[in-house]
Amino acid sequence: MTVDQPKEQVAVQRAFEQEKRQVWARDRHTGDLLYLPDGQADGEVRPGVTWRSYTAGGMLLCPMRGCGPFGRVVASPSRRHHFAHRSGADHASGTGLETLWHLSAKELLARWAAADPALHGWQLHIDDTPITMPDGWRRPDVLAISPDGAEQVAFEVQYSELTGEQWRARHHFYARAGVVDIWLFAHHGPQWRTRVASGPARRAELAHRDSGWTAAVGLSGLHQAMLQDGVVPLWLDPTTQSAGTATALFAPAAPPRSRTSRLVRDPALYVLPPEQDFRACFVAADPLEKCRVDLAARELLTPAKARQHEEYTRLLADQEEARRRLAALQERNELRREEERRRRQEKAQQYAAEQEEARRRLAALQERRRRDNELRRKEERRWRQEKAEQYVAEQEEAQRQADLRAAEERRRREEEHAAAQARLLIPLSEQYPPMFDHDPPAPDRTRGWWRLRRRRPR
Ligand SMILES: [Zn+2]
Repeated sequence: MTVDQPKEQVAVQRAFEQEKRQVWARDRHTGDLLYLPDGQADGEVRPGVTWRSYTAGGMLLCPMRGCGPFGRVVASPSRRHHFAHRSGADHASGTGLETLWHLSAKELLARWAAADPALHGWQLHIDDTPITMPDGWRRPDVLAISPDGAEQVAFEVQYSELTGEQWRARHHFYARAGVVDIWLFAHHGPQWRTRVASGPARRAELAHRDSGWTAAVGLSGLHQAMLQDGVVPLWLDPTTQSAGTATALFAPAAPPRSRTSRLVRDPALYVLPPEQDFRACFVAADPLEKCRVDLAARELLTPAKARQHEEYTRLLADQEEARRRLAALQERNELRREEERRRRQEKAQQYAAEQEEARRRLAALQERRRRDNELRRKEERRWRQEKAEQYVAEQEEAQRQADLRAAEERRRREEEHAAAQARLLIPLSEQYPPMFDHDPPAPDRTRGWWRLRRRRPR
């Protein structure tokens, strides 16, 4: 906490911290309840009079019935300034404090309501105007009545235990009577049970501490009943003049593992009212002066609640966006699947076409082979036949040649024979022509065999 921080922020940070010191006092002169702001011991309670001197003068009474004036203002830099009883006169124990806070809470509410623009000009009644119906009556702690009397707002500051059923009965009573009822729970007692947050919840709590978040508070059956009926529980701390709003953090989409982990899941969260089955929630504190009565919505609109409304709008927008994205994704997937189907079909068709083509080619090939074989066989047959014919022709030719040769031989022989026959008749000298063209040398017939030969008789 630094000195630069605005006072209201400091007050908000101290809100709902179970302040037990008395900060409200009744003015002995006017009978009004007065609020001592923090650090204002030497500030003026009225022109020229400080809280310190006014208290020391015995002019400020303890608001408790039958209790005397306060003795002094306790002021120190480290602690909240507050009133102290004279020694020995301290009543501050037991139920006394509750009564005291109840008193101051009502007073605070009435004062704040008078300054609320939404209730401008309204009559304010503390504890003195009952609302009657044929089936009963109720007297709200603070009742605001519009100038024309047509509208009424009842404020209830609840300190004691109350069941959900009892609250519902009262809530419905006010509804039947046409009265807007605003419920504020006490910052002490049975309606304020702090819980020690742990783990992520603790971290979230600390992270929001500066913006007024207090410790986690247990939600009773009463609070859950209110949440069921769409009423966000509120608390009031009269010692810091702050209002607290039940708040929880929600993860965007991930399904929660358990009820407690639903409080906090991760830092990117929605700040929303707790759900009706929550056992605990955070309390976001705001200065009461920043809260307004929203007559149309029949509620007390705290800044925290306004934020919850914004967050809810954001959540819806995000969900819409998520739905849109999902739809787009599904559409894209569908398109992709369609494309895939088409591609497969095309492939199958292509495959079938290829198969068909292959079959066709194979058939053509087989046909061609068959034809080729046939041709070859035919050719071969023809060739063989030719060969055979040729052979036969050759044989015949050879025979003819042989015959011719034989005939020639015969003829030659016959000629030879005829010639031989003829030669027998022709003188031998004629038969043998001269061996040389010129005359041979005249033989020496006187010698050799020539002589002998000539002597041989013919
Ligand atoms: Zn007292």
